[in-house]
Amino acid sequence: MSDEKIRTPCPACGANTLFIGSGGHLTCSVIGCKEPGVERAVNGLKRQLRIACAEKRVAVARIAHAASERELQEALYAESVVVAAHD
Ligand SMILES: [Zn+2]
Repeated sequence: MSDEKIRTPCPACGANTLFIGSGGHLTCSVIGCKEPGVERAVNGLKRQLRIACAEKRVAVARIAHAASERELQEALYAESVVVAAHD
């Protein structure tokens, strides 16, 4: 199980060099990779994704509960900004 190759590129350096190291931790084998213990980079990506999902839910709720044409326009605009910011 150790030395198992991962297809996903390293989020820190982009090389296809990830493997599961000792203790089951994702590790990058590139010498000089700025984040060889990839766990932190992966957690950062997960956190960004969670924030994006939360913002998206709020925006969708605003659209669903818009009481007027104007509120709907504002909610749609906010939603498109959220989508653009995380694409
Ligand atoms: Zn790397």
